[in-house]
Amino acid sequence: MLNFYSGTATEKVALAHSLHRTWERQHNIHGTVRDALQELRLSVEALTLHMRSMGMNQLCCHCASRPGGGCCSALMADNTDAIQILINLLLGIVVEPLPHKEDACCFLGEQGCLFLAKPHFCLNYNCSHIRNRATDQEMKTLYRHTSTVLGRQTRMETQLIEIFHLPSE
Ligand code: SF4
Ligand code: SF4
Repeated sequence: MLNFYSGTATEKVALAHSLHRTWERQHNIHGTVRDALQELRLSVEALTLHMRSMGMNQLCCHCASRPGGGCCSALMADNTDAIQILINLLLGIVVEPLPHKEDACCFLGEQGCLFLAKPHFCLNYNCSHIRNRATDQEMKTLYRHTSTVLGRQTRMETQLIEIFHLPSE
């Protein structure tokens, strides 16, 4: 049986592209998923704006450009799965493993993570550099936006599992 949750990043990306081609053949019948995708996109945009206002982009890009890629290490690439990658394809992101240093995540580009819908672990992770320089209010707003994204992304994943009759993790 195909496994959507394990294997190499390249295998997961290939599976996600295959599901995406199936989606493109059937897209007219899944209006509810399109609505859910739009909701997810809006919440990711709100989260991204807030992260930008906190200066996280510069902080993480600088950190990630150092040897090892900050917290975006090769090990973290294992947190991706084919369904989460499929959601990014549906959101219009071009997903292919990028040229990368051996110890860095292969989805880390020059502008940061290429995903809009990130693996749950990555979405939830805020290191001490971030926590120490943010105000309580900024962290509270960050958690609120993250929680909205997580809720919508999880709902989207559940819908896709049902539509494609995929095994859940
Ligand atoms: S979350 Fe922290 S460790 Fe990870 S890239 Fe950003 S600053 Fe670096
Ligand atoms: S998937 Fe994105 S956020 Fe997660 S480790 Fe890779 S580059 Fe970093």
